[in-house]
Amino acid sequence: MERSTYKRIVLKLSGEALAGDQGFGIDPEMIQSIAEQVKELHELDVEIAIIVGGGNIWRGMAGSAKGMDRATADYMGMLATVMNSLALQDSLENIDVQTRVQTSIEMRQVAEPYIRRKAIRHLEKKRVVIFAGGTGNPYFSTDTTAALRAAEIEADVILMAKNNVDGVYDADPSVDENAKKYETLTYLDILKDGLAVMDSTASSLCMDNNIPLIVFSIAEKGNIKRVVKGEEIGTTIRGQS
Ligand code: UDP
Repeated sequence: MERSTYKRIVLKLSGEALAGDQGFGIDPEMIQSIAEQVKELHELDVEIAIIVGGGNIWRGMAGSAKGMDRATADYMGMLATVMNSLALQDSLENIDVQTRVQTSIEMRQVAEPYIRRKAIRHLEKKRVVIFAGGTGNPYFSTDTTAALRAAEIEADVILMAKNNVDGVYDADPSVDENAKKYETLTYLDILKDGLAVMDSTASSLCMDNNIPLIVFSIAEKGNIKRVVKGEEIGTTIRGQS
């Protein structure tokens, strides 16, 4: 029988992963493909929490760069993550994967509020839990949300699925053909060298709480399952080397 290396994972999907090739909004085919990949994991008996970004709809920094109040723009970004989370829940439930969405900002008619112990209970019952609304605070990101929730629910690993790159490189591989992919890194390397993996708040939180992170590409179907089974694709980041 196929087995997962991990008992409990946090899967971080950037908003762009849901946009597919169109680059914005939600691509129904892409989200269906992600849902099917999550279902495959579910069959490996691993507990799955998902954090979805909102960059395919709205980014707070972009709004604030155009003169909008930063906190207001960030709240709009958090609402965007709720839209993505509901879309993903819908796709998962269409293929019979039981899912609960919990929001960090209360909107009880739409989803459950975030309650840590309840989330853990859902996971134990093998329901996929989607954490929506980021941390609920402006000036943070959904990468930081992934780090925070992973620490709270004691996840074994964060899987960071990217749709345009298959790991961490020493230069931008879409610009520099000599860019080298790292197999392993430490959080200190990321902070010291300013590598564009996740923001420094998220990296520090992962480092301080010793949560490993794997960055990999979701563009190739079946990759999430490969990572969960322990195949070394992408780049692994740890607290110490
Ligand atoms: N956001 C926020 N606080 C959080 C999480 C997200 O203010 O805890 C806002 C922020 O404006 C951000 C937007 O939500 O730009 C979308 O999230 P993010 O940029 O992390 O999404 P991704 O890049 O993963 O698509």
